[in-house]
Amino acid sequence: MTDRHQTDLLIIGAGPAGLYAAYYAGFRGLTVTLMDSLPQPGGQVAAMYPEKLIYDVAGFPGIRGQALIDNCVEQAAKADPTYFLGHRAEDLVHAEDGSILVTSHKGQQVHAKAVIITGGIGTFTPRPLPDAEQYEGRGLRYFVPKLDELAGLDVLIVGGGDSAFDWAQALEQIAKSVTLIHRRDTFRAHERTVQEVLASTVSVRTHTEVASIHGEDGITSVEVFDNRTDERERLEVQAVVAALGFTADLGPLTRWGLQQHKRHIVVDTRMATNLPRVFAAGDITEYDGKVRLIAVGFGEAATAVNNAATAIDPKAKLFPGHSSAA
Ligand SMILES: Cc1cc2nc3c(=O)[nH]c(=O)nc-3n(C[C@H](O)[C@H](O)[C@H](O)COP(=O)(O)OP(=O)(O)OC[C@H]3O[C@@H](n4cnc5c(N)ncnc54)[C@H](O)[C@@H]3O)c2cc1C
Repeated sequence: MTDRHQTDLLIIGAGPAGLYAAYYAGFRGLTVTLMDSLPQPGGQVAAMYPEKLIYDVAGFPGIRGQALIDNCVEQAAKADPTYFLGHRAEDLVHAEDGSILVTSHKGQQVHAKAVIITGGIGTFTPRPLPDAEQYEGRGLRYFVPKLDELAGLDVLIVGGGDSAFDWAQALEQIAKSVTLIHRRDTFRAHERTVQEVLASTVSVRTHTEVASIHGEDGITSVEVFDNRTDERERLEVQAVVAALGFTADLGPLTRWGLQQHKRHIVVDTRMATNLPRVFAAGDITEYDGKVRLIAVGFGEAATAVNNAATAIDPKAKLFPGHSSAA
């Protein structure tokens, strides 16, 4: 039986909103704990686009995803948070005194005075490339956390969305060659990125799908086919990046009695959910006019923590004071 961990504030989800909420909890003098089902902090940013340049975070004219997360982790460290990574929050129950007990799927219990759910799109898993399981970890990847791992290799990227084009653009300078195949001739990716990739050395082939992967220890080639003509071709590649999207699952969160709307949690202007002392921030929230962006999540995190602080201690002021004065 794992020890029950005591904390003022439990944050479920260590993406950008959760990490910023952790910093803010420290600023409010609260002890704070972060729980995330992924093995590393950073949510969608670290898992899906760590090397992508982000241009719309205030104060950063341009910053790579992983660098932004590293900064968030450094900032959160001021609050000395306890991390339970690789723990999916499974159950949430209220005690008679209003405090909250959350249990992870590994049995870790966290007893908190308030909870902020920053679960983003839920726990997300990549859509698998069919019949390619045996190559996972042996040349086939769903994430590219470190671009350098593909330095000097011939890389095949499968997909037509943002991730596929972002990887193609980022790998162009690092890999020996990059080929991107997509089963349609329209792309779901950001238009400017698509145009830049089309104008680059990346070979983009539409109406093309993977027929079979070859190689003994790792990948040595991939047979692709044109889905209109069935014409086949063998591409000599040593790495395949399957960027076919993700299935996201709110999973356990849906069973906690939270008011939901289309797989999001309904909050009021305080970021309060319908459950006492349970708040939410970031992509997971829903209200009229909601915009799902990192910048918005940061603001919501600050609102959620300040309101959680007053829920924990009704005598506490809502306005936290200025950090520059601290
Ligand atoms: C390819 C791509 C490019 C993007 N580019 C931009 C951009 O340029 N600018 C911008 O502002 N936004 C961009 N976004 C959107 C941005 O990434 C999200 O708005 C942001 O990540 C939301 O942060 P979050 O902290 O709310 O949630 P997330 O980043 O989704 O993090 C949520 C975390 O909660 C965890 N979690 C969920 N359920 C549980 C549970 N039950 N127990 C434990 N942990 C749980 C998840 O594992 C995850 O780590 C992009 C998104 C993608 C996919």
